[in-house]
Amino acid sequence: MENTFHQNTQILGLIGHPIKQSYSPFIQNVSFTLLDMDYIYLPFDVPQSNLRNALKGMLALGIKGFNVTIPHKESLVSFLSTVSEEAGIVGSVNTVVNDMGRLIGYNTDVHGVYETLAPYKDEIAGNEVSVIGAGGAARAVIYSLIRHFKPSSINIINRTEQRAESLKNYFSTKMKFGNFRTFELFPPDLISLLQSSKVIINATSVGMFPDIEDSVINLPSAFTKGQIVFDMVYNPPKTTLLKIAEAEGAIILNGINMLVHQAAKAFELWTNKQMPIDEIRNSLIQYIAE
Ligand code: NAP
Repeated sequence: MENTFHQNTQILGLIGHPIKQSYSPFIQNVSFTLLDMDYIYLPFDVPQSNLRNALKGMLALGIKGFNVTIPHKESLVSFLSTVSEEAGIVGSVNTVVNDMGRLIGYNTDVHGVYETLAPYKDEIAGNEVSVIGAGGAARAVIYSLIRHFKPSSINIINRTEQRAESLKNYFSTKMKFGNFRTFELFPPDLISLLQSSKVIINATSVGMFPDIEDSVINLPSAFTKGQIVFDMVYNPPKTTLLKIAEAEGAIILNGINMLVHQAAKAFELWTNKQMPIDEIRNSLIQYIAE
């Protein structure tokens, strides 16, 4: 095989621990190949204890930027020179740009959520939304909903109700949005709560490969015709939750579009170029199915 990398090749990467489940190397490297760009994207398994040294090493080696995944998305913030407005409010960073020795943090998940829900902006405005989950993905969703979609109210439903409550308090203060209700997963009135929601978003990991038979909600009567159901899980592309919702006539959205759009935003921040979104989405769907 021909070696196409040399001294001018720009290096990008991903830091996390563990990182073996990530599709980011596939998405970024296929994009570089399609656009004939002299870049390479590498995964780096960095445990928490090595985070500070890894960042020093990246600066010393002139690595242009990197994505950040579990468990560093929050703890990394204190090591950066500055963070963007959305990363500051969400409180987590998934993309870092090395701007001539200054590390700048962004949260491109927010952009991925925006691009996924944008076609339904009019339907979301003035309506109730239910978000299931209260982790990092839920934070990006809640930021994006308040900033861009103007829902009338947001229900946060989570297995650990206390986490939902802290999210409510956090965003009420940070974004001056007062219309939250919080629930423990499976409240007595779950069905009517979900039926009255124009949008239901799964921001938990339930249903993700290999546990593909699981669904955070498995009551068909919770879903209604024309309702928008967005599952942030991307593997499998059609989760059990989406299958149940689709059978009831709901509009279903999976996590693939979000995954590709958050990657495309990172790609743009590093390279000033547009990722070939449609080709990447199709390649990714094929790659996941293999
Ligand atoms: P996280 O911070 O670890 O939060 C996980 C959430 O899932 C918590 O609310 C947790 O509830 C809940 N949960 C986990 N297992 C559960 C179970 N068995 N039953 C009920 N609730 C459960 O993870 P995250 O970063 O927010 O990620 C959540 C999901 O979003 C993952 O599947 C991830 O792949 C996906 N995601 C997708 C994209 C994309 O681009 N499509 C981007 C980011 C994340 P507790 O608070 O009770 O623990």
